[in-house]
Parts: sequence; structure tokens; C-alpha cells
Amino acid sequence: MSDQNLKRRGLLCVVSGPSGSGKTTLCRRFSEEDSDAVYAVSATTRAPRDGEQDGIDYFFLTQKEFEARTTRGEFLEYAEVHGNYYGTLKSEVLNHIEAGRDVLMDIDVQGAALVRGQDDPAIQKALVDIFILLPSEEELIKRLNFRGTETQNQIDLRLKNAHEEMRHWQLYLYTVVSADKETDFSSFSAILAGERCRSSRLIPRAESSSDHPELDL
Ligand code: 5GP
Repeated sequence: MSDQNLKRRGLLCVVSGPSGSGKTTLCRRFSEEDSDAVYAVSATTRAPRDGEQDGIDYFFLTQKEFEARTTRGEFLEYAEVHGNYYGTLKSEVLNHIEAGRDVLMDIDVQGAALVRGQDDPAIQKALVDIFILLPSEEELIKRLNFRGTETQNQIDLRLKNAHEEMRHWQLYLYTVVSADKETDFSSFSAILAGERCRSSRLIPRAESSSDHPELDL
């Protein structure tokens, strides 16, 4: 059968890791370099940092707007992270997967657990979760990029958050132990390349017609 007769289901790629692991850069770069992949822009109640743009880095929402969207069921998942709300809008994910595009989501471990717990078979079939782990305590401290201006409490809190996040790596199907930017990107790309080739993700076009709606994701 020629390739033209196959349609592929899109991946829902959930990427987590502690601050400094480079997970956002990996997701952004992959979606920029690969036309079949899109980055899911999250919504958040935290204030924009210098240089961050609404709709590109995040959808910056007030607490009230975030709550209204929650009530309307617009989030695929949301969680409180470091005192602010973060969530993935269904509109950033579901249509892309249906169209065969891969969606990259950079979310925390709570959000990843919520996505794993979704009943929707389309989400379950699409899901690939990847954890970006730091190789040592020394590397973690280096990547957390303390500037010498933090109080001991701030340092302790950031370290505690990173350790808490890292405790969950075994729940993920894949773990990339971070080395350097290029090596991490190759490992990350290799995982996605392999996942794209799974036979179960390919659907013969004839079967994806309305005769077989259960296959037409
Ligand atoms: P930051 O404020 O530094 O951009 O992100 C803080 C944390 O929030 C990161 O661990 C990031 O992965 C997580 N995060 C970003 N977007 C989402 C989201 O949509 N859902 C969840 N659950 N976590 C998110």
C-alpha cells in the first residue's frame, strides 16, 4: 500500500520537567522546525515577564477570566503551579489532533496526570508523555540559575519545587536525561519520529471515511 493511502493520527505530546530542564525550548523548537507539529499555547493568571507576548508565550488571563473559562469547560487540564493558575485550552489541542497534526504541551506534573486520566479515547490514543530529567543535583543548581540575589527561602523553595517535579519522572513513558541542547533535541526528535511510525497511528484512508466513524478521529 502506498503512503498516500494512509492518514496519521496526531500525537498529543505532554512534556514535563523541572525549571531549567529546557522543556519549553524543546517544544518550541520542534514546532518551529516541523510543519506537522504545533505548540499548545497555555493560559495563565501569572503576570507577563519582560518580553512575553499575549497569545504567543501565554494567553494572559485575569483570575476572573480564567475561572469563567473553567466553568465553561474550556480547559483540557488546568492546575495551580507556584501560586498561579495554568491551563491548556481544548481549542489549542483537539482540532489539531483530529487533523493529524502533533500537539506539543509543556505542562507541569499535575496537568500531565490530568491528561493521562482523561476518558476520551482520542486523547488516550494520541498521548505520548516525556519527562526531561536533570542528571545531577549539581546540574539542577546550575540550571536554576541562582543570581546570588535570592534569599535562602527563595532558593529553598525553587529547589523544593524542582525536586518535587522530578519525583514523577517514572510515570512518563519516556525520560530524556538532559545533556546539552543539541543532544536533548536529537533524543526528543527521535522519540517523536518513532511514535509517528507506530502502525496503530496509521489509518487507511478508505477506513477513515464515515463507514468507520470509530476510526475517524
Ligand atoms: P512559567 O511560569 O515559568 O512559564 O511556568 C511555570 C510552570 O507552569 C512550568 O512547570 C510549566 O510547565 C507549567 N505550565 C505551563 N503551562 C501549563 C499548562 O497549561 N498547564 C499546566 N498544568 N502547567 C503549565
